[in-house]
Amino acid sequence: MGKLQLVNIEKSYKTGNSSIKVLKGISLEFRESEFVSILGPSGSGKTTLLNIIGGLDQYDAGDLVINNLSTKHFKDRDWDAYRNRSIGFVFQNYNLISHQSVLQNVEIAMTLSGVSNSERKARAKEALADVGLSDHIHKKPNQLSGGQMQRVAIARALVNNPDIILADEPTGALDSKTSTQVMNILREIAKKRLVIMVTHNEEIANEYSSRIIRFLDGEIQSDSDPIEKKDSASINQPRTPKKRDKTSMSLFTALSLSFKNLLTKKGRTILTSFAGSIGIIGVALVLALSSGLSNQLDVMQSDTLANFPIMIDTNEQFVDFSELGPPGSEKSNSKYEEFPEDTTIYAYDYSESFIMHKNVFTDDFLSYVENIENELPEAVNNISFTRGVGVNLLAEGTDGVVKFETMSQNSMMGGFSGPSMGFSHWYEMPKDHQFILELYDLIGENSRLPEAENEIAIVVDEYNRLSTLFLEKLALTEEEYDVTDFVGKTMLKLLPNDVYYTEAENGLFTPANPIEYRTLYDEADGLDLVVTGILRVKEDAATSYFSEGFIYTQELTERIIAEAQGSKITQAQKDSDINVLTNTPFQSDEMKEQLLIHLGATTTPIGINIYPVDFEGKDAIKEYLDQYNDGLDEEEQIVYNDLAEMVGDIMTDMINTVTYVLVGFAAISLIVSTIMIGIITYVSVIERTKEIGILRSVGARKKDISRVFNAETIIVGFISGSLGILISYLLIIPINRLIYQLTEIENVASLSATAAIILILGSMALTLIAGVIPSRMAAKKDPVVALRTE
Ligand code: ADP
Ligand code: MG
Repeated sequence: MGKLQLVNIEKSYKTGNSSIKVLKGISLEFRESEFVSILGPSGSGKTTLLNIIGGLDQYDAGDLVINNLSTKHFKDRDWDAYRNRSIGFVFQNYNLISHQSVLQNVEIAMTLSGVSNSERKARAKEALADVGLSDHIHKKPNQLSGGQMQRVAIARALVNNPDIILADEPTGALDSKTSTQVMNILREIAKKRLVIMVTHNEEIANEYSSRIIRFLDGEIQSDSDPIEKKDSASINQPRTPKKRDKTSMSLFTALSLSFKNLLTKKGRTILTSFAGSIGIIGVALVLALSSGLSNQLDVMQSDTLANFPIMIDTNEQFVDFSELGPPGSEKSNSKYEEFPEDTTIYAYDYSESFIMHKNVFTDDFLSYVENIENELPEAVNNISFTRGVGVNLLAEGTDGVVKFETMSQNSMMGGFSGPSMGFSHWYEMPKDHQFILELYDLIGENSRLPEAENEIAIVVDEYNRLSTLFLEKLALTEEEYDVTDFVGKTMLKLLPNDVYYTEAENGLFTPANPIEYRTLYDEADGLDLVVTGILRVKEDAATSYFSEGFIYTQELTERIIAEAQGSKITQAQKDSDINVLTNTPFQSDEMKEQLLIHLGATTTPIGINIYPVDFEGKDAIKEYLDQYNDGLDEEEQIVYNDLAEMVGDIMTDMINTVTYVLVGFAAISLIVSTIMIGIITYVSVIERTKEIGILRSVGARKKDISRVFNAETIIVGFISGSLGILISYLLIIPINRLIYQLTEIENVASLSATAAIILILGSMALTLIAGVIPSRMAAKKDPVVALRTE
């Protein structure tokens, strides 16, 4: 560093619409080491001059020449580096960072110039020792006297070994004794460097300095020891300033600065973080609940619902083909607007979107379905066909012989339900015994599954119960039974149509009269059905396949159909358009068809249930069935029902709705807390304005300033996030307990570690965003103005 040279420096300040010229063309030159005092009354522009020399403020006109280098083309980063490397400031009001220790205050300039931690500490301690403060390095500035604080400021100014020390009324706030200490130190410093001191204390200036410049109204009045003209070297300009080492603050420094600052405001930091955490808690709980619920739903679906059959039956049903129907079909009501503004009333054709559909089981379709087991062996557990053939069964109970009705009133009307629904109490067993034994336990020692056509079994519920509805059909009235009351016993007698129906002279048929049941049971030709076992659904079975009642073999079905087809009533009904039982004409072909099915004339099943292995299997089966429909007319298509899907869909919808609402609330609280953190950061910027000025005066870049505040928001965001996650985990405990009490489902709400970490990071990101505006504001602050604020 050579000389410092001011060439015609001018500076004006605008206040309102008038502008005051504070420096009116100052030309000065300084030696490499001397102690210069600038004397002048208050308001004469001394501080302004010093700030310009220190690169804290910018001149309007003229030039500041440092070491023969013009500063006209200095960029921000050049000024920052200049302040950091070449200048040490000492202010009248010390300008120490109050939340940092004495040592840290001295270290700060070095953290910007990238000195290693250990060297930084050593140099800071040395500088403090030089000003006689070795014993106070861990104190906070407010624990020191004014003189001590000023010596800290001098140590800070010296620690980067600058060429120039600029002292602005360094003893202005000190008594004469401490002033002497400070001045002695400055005089010592001036032996090796340039010290420029502003003062209005004539005595001090005379006693300590080697050169006195008098200043009045922005102009130099006198200079006691000016540099001769011939000494002044030529100024190299214009010339691009040589690349200087850049100053920069590490993220760690920024974090530690902000962390210390937050520590001094613990109460507020905790309150802010708590407020910030509320949004995070909201989101965390919503996440925990919704993911817990949908996990629960998945488990339930794969446990129970997946095993629900895909049901295809031959009942007439309304089908919305626009939704269920052939792939690619348009939603036909889309040309109408929902809840229209206008008052026009439209006519529409109901059948366009909804049609009455009846599945017709053609031989093609039946073989297509039967082929599923070959095509998708992994997907299908079992296929069961429901036959419509009526069966004439008599049972002997305690109250005599009764007819065992296998169809509910409803099913007689055509609404036959699948094997797991209704009260038919009469179910055909699938051929696959393994499948049944996976789902059912056999109760009692000699229990086994029926195998022959004359064998049946009884299914009880999980409490070993049989409904009185079932027992009444058997004329059984006891309260309790033993397994041996059933197993091995003949409980039903199957009568062929030709025995059960009697043909009259007129060609009409009458079913057996209840008073004949006893004789028929004891004497008529028929098949005795023997109970071989009792079945109860397994405790861990995912689904129950049968309801309570009898189960029988497919062999029995085949026998019944064979007998029925050859029976007189069936033949007679086939040839007649009149109901041979009631002697009335059929109201529709449909009615005749149903009676024929009932009498066993048609062997086509009336319903098919396909039991999938799991969800993927179900999807595969559906896809397989959809393929059948490809290219078929609507009437020929087969419509299937998936009860489980409907239940699952409804629940998924519900969970989604609840989740959306909760997410909405959580989002609002998140936004509110983000705004709050923004405001708090803004307040912090206002509070730390002085610190911003100090940091800038020791060479911090604008970027570093915004980094300090970003660090603060990141810390607050981290604390908020962590606090929120902690509170959420704590809240999940009672929430799960409550849910358990209400639903007996354990641990519904659960927050994964990944989600927790993401939320904490999210909280940090959000607060960072919230702090962007305030921290940019901080970065833009004029360092001179910032230093002037109290
Ligand atoms: P001194 O240090 O000699 O007391 P200053 O350099 O602080 O004087 O101020 C010189 C003049 O410039 C004063 O009239 C002051 O009001 C004015 N001044 C200083 N800084 C600003 C500013 N940022 N905006 C407007 N006027 C200012
Ligand atoms: Mg001043």
